Amino acid sequence: MSKWTVAKFGGSSVKDGAAMLRSSNVVENNPDIRIVVISATQNTTNQLEFVARAAQRGDEATLHSLVNELVQKHNNIANEIFSSPNVFTELNFLYDEIKFIGDAILKDRSYSPKMMDLLYSIGERMSSLLVSDLIRLRMPGMKVTLLDARDVIKTSSDYQKAEPQIDLILEHAKELVFPHLNKDSIIVTQGFIGKDLLGNTTTLGREGSDYSAALFGEAIDASVVQIWTDVPGIASSDPRVVTDAKFIPTLSYDEATALASLGAKVLFPTTLLPTKRKNIPVFVGSSLDPKGGGTTVTKEQDEDFKLKAVSILQKKDYAIVSFIGCHLDRAESLVEDLKLYFGESPVVFYDLTSVSVSFKIIGSENTPVLLKAHEILVKKY
Ligand code: ADP
Ligand code: ASP
Ligand code: MG
Repeated sequence: MSKWTVAKFGGSSVKDGAAMLRSSNVVENNPDIRIVVISATQNTTNQLEFVARAAQRGDEATLHSLVNELVQKHNNIANEIFSSPNVFTELNFLYDEIKFIGDAILKDRSYSPKMMDLLYSIGERMSSLLVSDLIRLRMPGMKVTLLDARDVIKTSSDYQKAEPQIDLILEHAKELVFPHLNKDSIIVTQGFIGKDLLGNTTTLGREGSDYSAALFGEAIDASVVQIWTDVPGIASSDPRVVTDAKFIPTLSYDEATALASLGAKVLFPTTLLPTKRKNIPVFVGSSLDPKGGGTTVTKEQDEDFKLKAVSILQKKDYAIVSFIGCHLDRAESLVEDLKLYFGESPVVFYDLTSVSVSFKIIGSENTPVLLKAHEILVKKY
């Protein structure tokens, strides 16, 4: 295991100049961080999708106003953080690339997943350009390299859900990343994006920057992968919905994977696969309060399988509610509690794994189900 840390900053952690400064402080205050993985600024990936859709509809007015919003947003940040002149030049090239792809879609009234991936990539390329320049200004003693993640994260050609090619990633990391793993260097790169063997830009799936960070962590055998977001860790349920959700200090890889796969948006579901392969701890914390603690995910699994969290997946006519950290013994009493509240017939057993049990609740909306399930969890804990 190397002594180096990979730190990933999500969209809300780079949403404006102040957020970028906070994230840059995290890097300054942690001398082991060698790879900084950056998401697109908040909502930018959605806006790029709207650009493609407006162009496809032939809605030129909306297309132009969306492109202008993106230009304004990134220019404003560049001004806020006193970016170097070359950043403005590079940003202009990236804006031209958005316009070029927008015009191509407008002309054909259609776009392919492959084209969308190239368009998506511009979000991360803009934000990482800004952050790399900021870190360079703030850490004058360091050599800061803006690495194009596509030169390392080699993937299949399944556009928008590309599969990383682990051996090739390691091979390219050896060439492009390893030489920077020393105390005077920092690499800033993009999450979410990669390149296939044909040289086309790919993406790992929406919210995939967490996965990129884990892949970089695996390649350099990092000592820890940090995921900096807008909440101080993984909670017993989505804190935006369940106001009394409790943050969980430790989870196992399997529990965190189950939680993410069964609806908790805090981590991209496959994030824990590379880190589990190399036994690298994953820390999830808030860039708003970097000293405020967070959740550490490791291989350690509690013997007693405490109930730790609930999550929800909304389907068309039903919700799947899952209890994580659950033991088979608990399933019976959970189902009784759910039936007591939702009635006998709408509650159907759905699935059981070594760390979760899931039920279908037919005809229910997710928020009330999640609130009730969390209430049951707190009672049982
Ligand atoms: P980022 O942009 O940093 O990737 P995300 O929005 O993808 O951030 O993930 C953070 C969000 O995940 C939180 O704001 C929170 O609303 C949501 N979330 C859902 N379930 C959970 C959970 N169990 N614990 C913590 N956060 C959760
Ligand atoms: N920017 C991408 C998205 O919004 C990837 C990420 O932020 O994780 O989906
Ligand atoms: Mg995310």
